[in-house]
Amino acid sequence: MSIIQKLLLNAMIISKEKNEPVEVRCPKCGRTQIVYIPKEEIPVCETCHIQMVISELLDEGKST
Ligand SMILES: [Zn+2]
Repeated sequence: MSIIQKLLLNAMIISKEKNEPVEVRCPKCGRTQIVYIPKEEIPVCETCHIQMVISELLDEGKST
């Protein structure tokens, strides 16, 4: 897990009362999936069996 991901996860854990939607991507095959952290864990790609990485934060609360 990269430092950036650890920082992101730490921020999520601090505000763990609300789950944040994030887009995760398989670095190998490019499969993407939306998960809510920290409620859900970063998934493992079903095809490649490697852990997917956070590719984008989907903050629905900020429209601008
Ligand atoms: Zn994959």
